[in-house]
Amino acid sequence: MKRFAFLLVASMGIVALVGACASMQQGGVDLVTRAVQASGGPVALGGVKTIAQKGTVKQWEPEQSAAAGGEMRYANESTVDAVTDVASRTTRIDWVRNYFYPAPRSYTFSEIVSPEAGYVAGIDSTGRTKQSLESNPPAHTMSGLRLAASQRELLRSSPLLVLEMLKNPSSVAAVGDITVGGATYPAVDYRAGDQTLTVMFDRATGLPARVRSLDYDNVWGDVSYDLVLGDWQAVDGVRIATSRKYELNGRTVMDTRITETRVNAPLAADRLVIPASLLAGARRPATGDVPYQWVIRRQFIGTYLDSEQPSYDTQASPGLRLVELGPGVQHQVGGTHHSLVVEMKDHVVVFDAPVSDRHANWVLSAVRAKFLRKPVKYLVLTHHHMDHTGGIRAYANEGATIVAGKGTAEHWKRVLAAPYTRNPDLAPKDLTRTPIIEVADKWVHSDGQREVHAYVIAPNPHAEGLLIGYVPDLKLGFATDIWSPGAGALPERLNPALAALVAGVKKAGITPVKFAGGHGSTADYAPLAALEGK
Ligand SMILES: [Zn+2]
Repeated sequence: MKRFAFLLVASMGIVALVGACASMQQGGVDLVTRAVQASGGPVALGGVKTIAQKGTVKQWEPEQSAAAGGEMRYANESTVDAVTDVASRTTRIDWVRNYFYPAPRSYTFSEIVSPEAGYVAGIDSTGRTKQSLESNPPAHTMSGLRLAASQRELLRSSPLLVLEMLKNPSSVAAVGDITVGGATYPAVDYRAGDQTLTVMFDRATGLPARVRSLDYDNVWGDVSYDLVLGDWQAVDGVRIATSRKYELNGRTVMDTRITETRVNAPLAADRLVIPASLLAGARRPATGDVPYQWVIRRQFIGTYLDSEQPSYDTQASPGLRLVELGPGVQHQVGGTHHSLVVEMKDHVVVFDAPVSDRHANWVLSAVRAKFLRKPVKYLVLTHHHMDHTGGIRAYANEGATIVAGKGTAEHWKRVLAAPYTRNPDLAPKDLTRTPIIEVADKWVHSDGQREVHAYVIAPNPHAEGLLIGYVPDLKLGFATDIWSPGAGALPERLNPALAALVAGVKKAGITPVKFAGGHGSTADYAPLAALEGK
């Protein structure tokens, strides 16, 4: 009898649950139906065969700032000329990107994104893959990671998104009201592949106002990424948002203005063709752990390596590896970003935690294997930029003390307090008690046998509070971004970054013979020092 009663209650519960889901779905579809009407109606939207748009784009990167937690870098100002063929779900975007950061330069390139493949004609990054370098003229197929990110962002910004949602009601669910910046929006979740976009609607007009994804950021952990739509205009009966801003945790990092839209203009089919020679080897869109924020925002500054692995070019490198620079000193190389590992009597010191916790986990497991499970007690961060610190949590999780430059401790305290439930490489844990040492001038660490030093390089043009590392018994320095030793010939005379390094070495009173780099490899210091005064 008892069992029967339980079953009855349980089945009533299921009925109630199913009922709730159905009404959630219905409420969501009502919002979508209204949005479709507001966007021009199902007939006008369904009649769109091609869309051609021109506009301007500005992009900012918050985690390449001069000061930790400081003003975002204004990265580039670009023009875009985009065409979409709705039937084949293929888009071509012709870009002229004028970069201000990290170095002034201009890239003219085209992207073609179809459901099956992505292609880039021209040079779009300082971090080029083997295929891009070997192609003449320069071209490459997109990695599965970039293709997935491009597809997601094209869907998010499409004027036809609401029509697609209407056609897929089982993927739509109302999620209640969401308040952003004092405004409240009725909202739905839309499940597209393995991604969920939360679409928030303007109460007055019914049009989509914000389209949100919940992403993972290597510095800030769980973040919201919102496309904010505005300045709607009617083009051939279809409503087009001509203002499209992306907000990362509420800060505008991308601002697109559409200056011209044409609906159903003739589109030459050959403009959307990916050359067969490249298409054959093209990657399908990645699923699962796509580091969307890394993929998207490294493109903002024109340094993105379009590879299946964010840390190295899978076409050119078998993977990360350690190179011994002296007894107990290993340089992690094999990728675009490096760490230096120094063995002490009963622990290990690591300089820099580049890219991601996945990258950091590789270094940590290599350290465990190489140094018989000595713990990493100190992680020294040369500077706060996202590409050299994205693995900080993996080290904090192992109990490492963070050693960072002047003026950065508060920033790291905030970062380590940020939730990171969406981190694909590390289970959430309270990292707020991670010890942080802020180096005012120099840090000297000794185990009675070996010393390890860090020195603040001030002033320098790269990042406030930037540190260099030094291992006195090997006369080995470690520098990131102000010098990439071995990455190319020295210039004729010192540039401001190299001059800062030379002045810093002098001020520290150290006598390095070699430097290893956060980029590059290793190089003798004397030829660099000899440039002083030239
Ligand atoms: Zn940097």
